[in-house]
Amino acid sequence: MSVTVRVPAKVNVQLAVGAARPDGFHDLANVFLAVGLYDEVTVTESDELRVTCAGPDAGQVPLDRTNLAARAALALARRRGIDPAVHLHIAKDIPVAGGMAGGSADGAGALLACNALWQAGASRAELLSICAELGSDVPFSLVGGAALGTGRGERLRALEVGGTFHWVFALAEGGLSTPAVYREFDRLNEGVRVPEPVASEDLLAALAKGDAEALAATLSNDLEPAALSLRPSLADTLEAGRAAGALAGLVSGSGPTTAFLVRDAEAAAKVADALLASGTCRAARITESPAPGATVV
Ligand code: ATP
Repeated sequence: MSVTVRVPAKVNVQLAVGAARPDGFHDLANVFLAVGLYDEVTVTESDELRVTCAGPDAGQVPLDRTNLAARAALALARRRGIDPAVHLHIAKDIPVAGGMAGGSADGAGALLACNALWQAGASRAELLSICAELGSDVPFSLVGGAALGTGRGERLRALEVGGTFHWVFALAEGGLSTPAVYREFDRLNEGVRVPEPVASEDLLAALAKGDAEALAATLSNDLEPAALSLRPSLADTLEAGRAAGALAGLVSGSGPTTAFLVRDAEAAAKVADALLASGTCRAARITESPAPGATVV
């Protein structure tokens, strides 16, 4: 018996970051949009818990119990008193440590797959609460579509999306550690009064209308200066995409992937070609949003 779940990557169309809290976390106003790049997690009965991974970035994925897919399986097994003897295989297409929530996707995917394989009967609400324990971005990977995350980003409100948005993602060499990017954010903002993070009404309206130009005008990522400070070459990638006619470009989450919103499929092909020709990224991926959340296939 085995179950396969497909889970999307995300881009943050707005990532407003508040000051560091006493516990070290930051309050966020985080507008997530699921995009059509997917990992697939297959869970099969086995004699012990093990993780394998295939894909271009597979070598960077931990295969021990720190893997978010393994942690998700263990969390559900513990709650239900089930022996977590399963083989978790991740077919990885989402860049690793790329700011696209690939690990979170695998956590949500493994949770949904194990719930089905074990017929554990966890409700949507219970799955979401396990996701929130696993990490701030994991609940969104389960639900997909578009959502506003507040708190650490894990309290979600579904958002309306009135059309299809076209994107090009420029994949960078190597990853950026999310905690390191937040540390750099704190360093850059030392002595600065960081405003409360608030979702942009104009951005939410642009999403609801499916208006790419209006969305382009309102995209924002407060982590971008920190990501650029740690990886100055990303400025060249952003410049190459904008020069090729993207409506807007921004760092995706904590980076180093950069995201370019484009008008249509034709513009996407042009921007992707220009990004590759510029030599400022290792690959360019064309995709659309919104994408559905974790789905059994
Ligand atoms: P986010 O956008 O949520 O900040 P990210 O996309 O930048 O995350 P991930 O691909 O989730 O980053 O990986 C971050 C780190 O998490 C990796 O360097 C790796 O050590 C660890 N990790 C744990 N489980 C996984 C997994 N299933 N896939 C990828 N990385 C994982």
